[in-house]
Amino acid sequence: MKEQNFRQIQEKLNGVTRRDFMKFCSAVAAGMALPEAVVPKIAHAISSPQRPPVIWLHGSECTGCSMSLLRSEHPSIEKLIFDLISLDFHETLSAGAGHQAEGALHQAVEENYGKFILVVEGAIPLKDGGIYCQVGGKNFVDSVKEIGAQAGAVIAVGSCASWGGVAAMEPNPTECVGVQSVLTDKTVVSIPGCPPNPYNLLSTVIHYLTFNKLPALDKKNRPKFAYGRLIHEHCERRPHFDNGRFARQFGDEGHRQGYCLYYLGCKGPVTYANCSTSQFGDAGSGCWPVAIGHPCFGCAEQGVGFHMPQFSTSPVLHATPAAEHAPITVERGQGVSAGSAALMAGLGGAAIGAGAVFTAKLGTKGSADEDEKA
Ligand code: SF4
Repeated sequence: MKEQNFRQIQEKLNGVTRRDFMKFCSAVAAGMALPEAVVPKIAHAISSPQRPPVIWLHGSECTGCSMSLLRSEHPSIEKLIFDLISLDFHETLSAGAGHQAEGALHQAVEENYGKFILVVEGAIPLKDGGIYCQVGGKNFVDSVKEIGAQAGAVIAVGSCASWGGVAAMEPNPTECVGVQSVLTDKTVVSIPGCPPNPYNLLSTVIHYLTFNKLPALDKKNRPKFAYGRLIHEHCERRPHFDNGRFARQFGDEGHRQGYCLYYLGCKGPVTYANCSTSQFGDAGSGCWPVAIGHPCFGCAEQGVGFHMPQFSTSPVLHATPAAEHAPITVERGQGVSAGSAALMAGLGGAAIGAGAVFTAKLGTKGSADEDEKA
């Protein structure tokens, strides 16, 4: 990247150093599992004067996704989004209102026909023709169809836009659905979460900007780089799960010790997302629900968050511990209880694998800290 280009960025970013900027580009590349060799390409794309136009619409939702984005740091994402990407329309942040705002929206669509990225936040009610969510006197479902058809790429941000989220909870009185159910002839990238990690949105936009195509998606159209692994596979409390150390009640000894939150209803074992590795919230390092003692709610997983009872235990999809976790150090002679092994093996349906791991890592006797009742 030329020094002159960087100076332009620095002016835009208001004080972000070149070192920080390149670190950020490296983090984006690493987050998308791209080789270090593409970092200059990402830096070049971000520093390009041709900014991708983004039009951001709101349906049935709480605006938490936008709030999460606005409160990001390292460097400030709102600076990157709002200074480096041309956010041509965002209903919540729009200074104008009424006809003025509607005029700005239609002008942005016309001027950027086929080129803009449409970001939709919020679910889309379908009942009674969609009358339960109207903006500017128009049913939201019709706006999404009309504007989505003219977009270069469409991103559903948050669980509501991805599949209905909280707005579609049983009995779903307004028949809310996600964007893909409305724009059936387009590929809609889903970035679920309540709220989603804003870095996943930013990385998706930067991927589109850098390579002129969307990142690899899974069968639910989620970027694989962010939703390819279960939270449970990379959770910092996973060694406690593997060793049978659980919190049983909020505030008990296990909870205070930072043990696994499985029995408090953690849905990490059935939720695909990178919350445990790409933390967010910017309330200090290591900030995500499980880190601060709250079980994962499964907000990013369809059929889990807003569907499974919050404090019920979940099935364990992959019982084999992640290879990269260092085992918990135990004293000679201590080991995992048979009950805990049964939890791993029975619930996960991987008795042989789990049993082998326990056998390899630990001794045979139980200890006071270990779960005896699993
Ligand atoms: Fe982490 Fe939850 Fe898995 Fe325990 S059950 S290791 S807290 S994701």
